[in-house]
Amino acid sequence: MPPDPYAWIDQTLQAIHRADWYRSVQAVSGSPGSVVTLEGQKLLNFASNDYLGLAGDERLIQAAIAATQVYGTGSTGSRLLSGHRELHHRLEQAIADLKQTAAALVFSSGYLANLGTISALVGARDLIVADQYNHASLKSGAALSGATVMNYPHSDLTLLRQQLQQHRSHHRRCLMLTDSVFSMDGDLCRLPDLLAIAESFDAMLLIDEAHATGVLGERGSGGVEHFGCTGRPLIQIGTLSKALGSLGGYVAGTAPLIDLLRNRAPTWIYTTGLSPADTAAALAAVQIVTQEPQRRQRLWQNVQILQQMLQNVLEHFAPPTWKLLPSESPILCLQVEDAATVLSLGRQLRQWGVWAAAVRPPTVPTSRLRFTVMATHTPDQLQQVAIALQKLALGACHP
Ligand code: PMP
Repeated sequence: MPPDPYAWIDQTLQAIHRADWYRSVQAVSGSPGSVVTLEGQKLLNFASNDYLGLAGDERLIQAAIAATQVYGTGSTGSRLLSGHRELHHRLEQAIADLKQTAAALVFSSGYLANLGTISALVGARDLIVADQYNHASLKSGAALSGATVMNYPHSDLTLLRQQLQQHRSHHRRCLMLTDSVFSMDGDLCRLPDLLAIAESFDAMLLIDEAHATGVLGERGSGGVEHFGCTGRPLIQIGTLSKALGSLGGYVAGTAPLIDLLRNRAPTWIYTTGLSPADTAAALAAVQIVTQEPQRRQRLWQNVQILQQMLQNVLEHFAPPTWKLLPSESPILCLQVEDAATVLSLGRQLRQWGVWAAAVRPPTVPTSRLRFTVMATHTPDQLQQVAIALQKLALGACHP
């Protein structure tokens, strides 16, 4: 028998199963919202990134339908060939206004925006310094660029400075990479300090505002606004797929930066333009973000309520091994012992009607239940989570 060049696939899958790292998809039916139907079961939704509840908003739906009727379903080509529409231009202008930057560029996803931007900015002669907890798309972008990559332990700015002191002078350009809201912990980067470090080491700074856009800042512009850093020299990346309820990614910055990306970012140049429906829905969402600050206020009220509930459960009912990770965002994580525990807790929560993500290594260093809060969660729904959490904690103490 000749050797089977594909045999390794089965072997790898078996190894993934043995390590309890196997992942599978589950179908949500119907419209997204604070209650969803998952494989036939109605669940309170604490697992989505739809922070403002816009993914099922009638205005976004109507905008997508109207754009499809006018422009059709597909963009039909890359933006530089046949795929550019006036709608893309309007969305880019609206994002630049939201971010108060000179220009913006829309990509087909946040992942592709990170890949294309990082690889356009640095190459083999350059240095990237990056927070260890950054999103996978920043890591993939760094790898694609061919630059020397140094990761510093999460938010350890002393080590970041040391790395720059030792290595900066050996490289042509330097790019610092950070998430704005760290997606698997919920804490924020220390942006003012990072900007000061970037300035003193002649480095560019790229911030990923994926979980901050529409969420942080009085105008919903993101972490840069939250930290009072609007107008500072920064490259801002984000997604249209979380609080903005659509699909796609963006880069916001100076006009020359955006011009360079149009000429150098492979994931923008060689891919089809964002669909008219996604573009129009995102445009409607950006307008809602600026015109309806009350949505953001409700979101933050809900975050506070759930945070207090989780703290209360931990203080009075849970095993001492459980811990609420420090968060300054709608991402609240309950760290538990190990992967097997988090999977079992996630299943139990679902039996009681609550859907939260059970996240475990290798995605994160420690296993945790990850709750994401929405502006559209009602007080009743939050109360139901508190009850479910109490039962979960009591069950863990007295199995
Ligand atoms: N950056 C961060 C921090 C993210 O969490 C995500 C999505 N999980 C992305 C980028 C990628 O965005 P998109 O889903 O639009 O590709």
